Amino acid sequence: MSNEIARRGILLVLSSPSGGGKTSIGRALRVTDPNLGLSVSLTTRPPREGEIDGKDYHFVSAARFDEAVRNGELIEHAEVFGARYGTPRAPVEAALAEGRDLLFDIDWQGTRQLRAALPGDVVSVFILPPSMAELERRLRARRADDEATVRRRMGKAAAEIAHWDEYDYVVVNRDFDLAVASVRAVLAAERLKRVRQTGLASFVSALLA
Ligand code: 5GP
Repeated sequence: MSNEIARRGILLVLSSPSGGGKTSIGRALRVTDPNLGLSVSLTTRPPREGEIDGKDYHFVSAARFDEAVRNGELIEHAEVFGARYGTPRAPVEAALAEGRDLLFDIDWQGTRQLRAALPGDVVSVFILPPSMAELERRLRARRADDEATVRRRMGKAAAEIAHWDEYDYVVVNRDFDLAVASVRAVLAAERLKRVRQTGLASFVSALLA
């Protein structure tokens, strides 16, 4: 690593309506990218089948969530579908300082707050479904939610999509592999931004010495 140019980490936010593909795209990105960690949120919603505490979310009580808010442990928090979600602050600060990138699966409310807190470090990507019919089909195909939840998530999808124009990049998830490649390209370009490469000046000095 010593011959690498030091840089500040990137906070890569992926947002989409439920079923839009952000979780699968994020997972695919992380498989091939050891420098991309995952921000694990606190939530008060119960775990879905297969979800692991500490890996998918930190599943906490409302009282514990309130305490985290009071103590300033969360860099942002919001209510989504009647449950509360928030991003722990400490891993974000550590990643930025160490030049590691972090992936966030958060909604538009969280993206706004994160951008306000760390304006130079957030790179945001909105994932759009190719159509609302396809979004509904994908929501049903994952079989994670009951009918009422699917209906509620479809009801909220338009409201989430309405915030597409607050994002730096927008990717239409027509083809999963293409969508992953697009987000990977965004990350590759953003890593090369001059202002992020904090070690450039000393690298160039040594180059010219
Ligand atoms: P789900 O319950 O399906 O895992 O997530 C529901 C919504 O909450 C998704 O839009 C997801 O992006 C959002 N979300 C998950 N974690 C956080 C968080 O820490 N902060 C915010 N603001 N939204 C979150």
